[in-house]
Amino acid sequence: MTSTHAFWLAGRQATGETGFDVTSPWDGTTVGTVSLPTDAQVEEAVAAAYAVREDFAATPAHTRAAALDHVGRRLSECAEEIARLISAENGKPVKWARGEVGRAVSVFRFAAEEARRFNGGEAQRLDTDAGGQGRLALTRRFPKGVVLGIAPFNFPLNLCAHKIAPAIAAGAPIILKPAPATPLSGLILGELLAETELPAGSWSILPVPNDRMPALVQDERLPVISFTGSETVGYAIMDSVPRKHCTLELGGNGAAVVLGDWASDEDLAWAASRIATFSNYQGGQSCISVQRVIADAAVYDRLLPRIVAAVEAQVTGDPNDDATDVGPLVSEAAAERVESWVEEAVAAGAKLLTGGKRDGAAYAPTVLTDLPAGTTLAREEVFGPVLSVQKVTGEAEAFAAVNDSKYGLQAGVFTHDLQAAFRAHRALEVGGVVIGDVPSYRADQMPYGGAKQSGVGREGVRFAMDDYTYERVLVLTGL
Ligand code: NAD
Repeated sequence: MTSTHAFWLAGRQATGETGFDVTSPWDGTTVGTVSLPTDAQVEEAVAAAYAVREDFAATPAHTRAAALDHVGRRLSECAEEIARLISAENGKPVKWARGEVGRAVSVFRFAAEEARRFNGGEAQRLDTDAGGQGRLALTRRFPKGVVLGIAPFNFPLNLCAHKIAPAIAAGAPIILKPAPATPLSGLILGELLAETELPAGSWSILPVPNDRMPALVQDERLPVISFTGSETVGYAIMDSVPRKHCTLELGGNGAAVVLGDWASDEDLAWAASRIATFSNYQGGQSCISVQRVIADAAVYDRLLPRIVAAVEAQVTGDPNDDATDVGPLVSEAAAERVESWVEEAVAAGAKLLTGGKRDGAAYAPTVLTDLPAGTTLAREEVFGPVLSVQKVTGEAEAFAAVNDSKYGLQAGVFTHDLQAAFRAHRALEVGGVVIGDVPSYRADQMPYGGAKQSGVGREGVRFAMDDYTYERVLVLTGL
């Protein structure tokens, strides 16, 4: 890898007139310099994608599947190098970055499989009433058009994979925009895609600055927007283009519920360990990290010290070190925001049991109890290594506490009771309920997305393909 990075314009490398530095949040060193596309180059990419859309939709499934398989294989071959790159630009501990690369490999493999079986079509008889006698309907899905994929910084490789792989599998051209803090992990996908036979124009990866994004969002040649990021930016985009198809994968303040039957020493040790790990992994910068623990009074007093001990056992430090569990946040500004929210909560009466300290971009794993309802920390997504633990009595109160949030991405419920699992599934206003574990579980083929203000639509390879396409019926007459 070189330190100056071109972007990818219609399947080939290109550079613009200016660039910007990507810096490590851990030590402030320059990880690379990225070239910025000019307006003319962005236009060229959009025009090329628009021009190729019909041809790309007609590309044989085996060609698209072979390209996707190739990218999955090459990602796997370069896994360590890419994990180090993710870690350098994002600050994510390398062990978590390795996991991210493994997931991106799966996304490309799933997409290759889906490309082969997608659009098998359905025949529907229409002679169920007299008017349809002698007629048959065939249904197939076709791309809605060029996709604009916009990705966040926290999974800089895998969330780019979740945009681009389903688009290729569905035969929809895509313009992908990685996050400004972490563009290198997205751009590396271009190196692998460029080794394939995909038609020029079918994909571009452009690090367009945020202030130039509204023009791209408004462009009528891009009818589908697939956005992953913050609630504020996501809804602003959707409000600005109400007639476009928008998928919004937004934030959350994930809750882990521990019900009264999850009570053995082994149960509580497992719950505490999972909660500590997944409230802090990637510095808490995951949309499904554990921000809230809602524990039944029957287990609360035994669970709380175990959580605090497990959080204190998290190894903080250099993300490049294999032993590190928790690295820095993406920037010092992000850590300062988290610090201010914790200070506000403590001033309002929350009890700080551990953590609460900042060192540059690093924020110490933190546990609070007695968090007052009106505080920013209680209402918003903290996106940092901060956990609050709340005592409730009974399942109904626990589920009501989960739902007492504007967000609804995923929830975890620790219980052995199968009936309680079904009740949780029915009662919790979230996109996914995980039984026997924290909310922070995502398999890349699963439908994934939010209820309430956590988003609109679903990702997960086939579900994104459904989103990028629409059903078109062919009615045959005279049969
Ligand atoms: P962000 O909203 O700041 O940025 C997301 C992307 O939008 C970036 O590429 C950014 O450059 C771009 N952007 C910014 N302004 C824009 C504009 N005016 N028009 C078009 N694009 C614009 O989010 P972030 O800080 O990168 O990511 C963190 C957020 O992402 C958190 O809220 C997190 O919960 C959420 N997230 C959600 C999921 C999910 O699947 N639900 C997954 C990961 C992250």
